[in-house]
Amino acid sequence: MTYQAELGWYLNIFCNYRCKYCFMSTMPSSGYFRGYTNIEKMISGFNRNGISWLVHMSGGEPFLFPNFIKFCEKLTQGHYISINTNLSTPNVFDFARKINPSRVKYIHASVHLRQRGNGLEEFIRKVIFLKRHGFKTFASFLMYPEDIIYFERTFRRLKTEGIILFPKLFRGIWRNEGLHPGIKRRMRKFPALRPLLKRTYPAEYSREEKRLIRFLSERSQELAGEDYFDSDCTIDLSKEMNWLDGLPSWRGRPCFTGSRYVRMDPWGKVTRCNTDHTLLGNLFEGEVKLMAGAQPCACPVCSCPYYGERYLADISQPQMNKEDSYEKAVIGVGTKNGSAVNSPVFERRFPCPEEN
Ligand code: SF4
Ligand code: SF4
Repeated sequence: MTYQAELGWYLNIFCNYRCKYCFMSTMPSSGYFRGYTNIEKMISGFNRNGISWLVHMSGGEPFLFPNFIKFCEKLTQGHYISINTNLSTPNVFDFARKINPSRVKYIHASVHLRQRGNGLEEFIRKVIFLKRHGFKTFASFLMYPEDIIYFERTFRRLKTEGIILFPKLFRGIWRNEGLHPGIKRRMRKFPALRPLLKRTYPAEYSREEKRLIRFLSERSQELAGEDYFDSDCTIDLSKEMNWLDGLPSWRGRPCFTGSRYVRMDPWGKVTRCNTDHTLLGNLFEGEVKLMAGAQPCACPVCSCPYYGERYLADISQPQMNKEDSYEKAVIGVGTKNGSAVNSPVFERRFPCPEEN
């Protein structure tokens, strides 16, 4: 390992895609860039703590960050990066030519077939280009209930080019949007009809869907090889099947998030993890105080279990949470009279950028 701590940064609330399963499509202001853009201040913020970070960039779409390549050139001089992306923008080629691949731990590219339309071939071209330039690049396909049927044909097309596609679990609420509101109102009176209106995933994949997804995941893992996701890959898609029956809860167990991993919003606000929003400072406008070692998890659900799996001191036997209560699982920074307070209060769940 060549860095001291990981920082999960959703660097913008902006995307050129509007995937229906993504929080971007429901946010009123997602049609334009929102986030911090002063590159010099940002770089000095990353350098201030005197440690080398692995900056995991997500969003929104990171490649839409203004002057993204220039920013990455500067950031990778002293730090490492990894990226979640839809690989839809043309500057991906420029990135591959200009950025030192030894400073990029991995690129996680999501297919998002419906939004891409006829662009699958372009996606393939970019993955191949990145790989040829030495970037570890892997591809995923979100198993949104209505899209599961398209996995196999996409998998086969990518496989002919040597790209192994991994299924990724949908984590969130599916709502039946095809029904007339009046019919929905009437159906709500009958609890037995509820699954036709709203389902919570991954817990409510059907038994057949679970069996299929598990098979597809194991097949991809077998083809890719056991060490495909190395120790730097926090977004380890081979772990997805651990959460097929719901999201885990490790409440009370010591977790190194807050000290070896922190989460940052587009404006530099740093919190403990994707679920615990205990405020640790602002990297761009002040200081960040990391926690001392592993601290007990205070969250009823680990809404982004990639991090729990990686940073818990002991991950054995979590409780599985099948309810949709994880919608309200985020704890941490509450507000009182307009100022932030660090207390375990519930707030409206802010979506986890690793969901899709
Ligand atoms: S899932 Fe990814 S590509 Fe789709 S809208 Fe959200 S950020 Fe954009
Ligand atoms: S177990 Fe999950 S929710 Fe709890 S502190 Fe760790 S990463 Fe956060």
